[in-house]
Amino acid sequence: MIPAVLTIAGSDPSGGAGMQADLKVISALGGYGCAAVTALTVQNTLGVFGLHTPPPAFVSAQVDAVLDDVRVDAVKIGMLATAATVAAVADSLARHPRVPVVLDPVMLAKSQDRLLAADAVDTLRRRLLPLVDLITPNLPEAAELLGTKPAEDEDGMRDQLRQLAQLGPRVLLKGGHLDGPDCVDLLRVDGEVHRFTERRVETTNTHGTGCALSAAIATRHAHGSDWPAAVGEAKSYLTGALRGADDLDIGAGHGPPDH
Ligand code: PLP
Repeated sequence: MIPAVLTIAGSDPSGGAGMQADLKVISALGGYGCAAVTALTVQNTLGVFGLHTPPPAFVSAQVDAVLDDVRVDAVKIGMLATAATVAAVADSLARHPRVPVVLDPVMLAKSQDRLLAADAVDTLRRRLLPLVDLITPNLPEAAELLGTKPAEDEDGMRDQLRQLAQLGPRVLLKGGHLDGPDCVDLLRVDGEVHRFTERRVETTNTHGTGCALSAAIATRHAHGSDWPAAVGEAKSYLTGALRGADDLDIGAGHGPPDH
């Protein structure tokens, strides 16, 4: 059976991040992708130049339309833009039977443009985290969720992982922002920490990597992998896409990996 995966995310018209990246990844990993759009960005590989958010009720109506009809095996949530949209998505998920949910707490683009309003972080913590199974923050996002500074080494990551686990769901803390030849990610599931490491791929084509990883985890989990296996498989997939990234020639800035 081909699993169906719903992404609830923003649009990147240049195709490297957001729902466009998610749909490519879901297909590449053998899933059927559905997409509810939370925000429209004006964006390319150089930055984000505009943002339009539909009324929150329109976002939840899209999510309802899919969940009322399609047997969805996993949900991935990305950019949510505003506190009202965070609340609308939480309301919609709460109205339906529970489905595994992966939340990428998208806050800032690599271009430093804000993709989640600063006043929405509290709503995300209170309303959405209790409804999700796994969050996938990078170090700056983890720091913002905890109201502290980003971890500076693996010991600091382990400490923040413990604190994040108290917010509710399982946590994959992504250490790609640290220097070093390896990228280390730590997953905490049922009190146990799993360590994932891959050689860092030297490329500037890393646009939308967080989007792609969370979509890949949701898709592998929808195929039946448990959380640690799904994370390992998603990380291998993303590393492969990054190794092929320089064969793609998309835009003058940070292009996407090769999905
Ligand atoms: N645009 C959208 C719609 C996104 O969802 C995201 C990340 O989640 C980005 C842009 C940011 O991509 P990057 O961090 O690679 O700039």
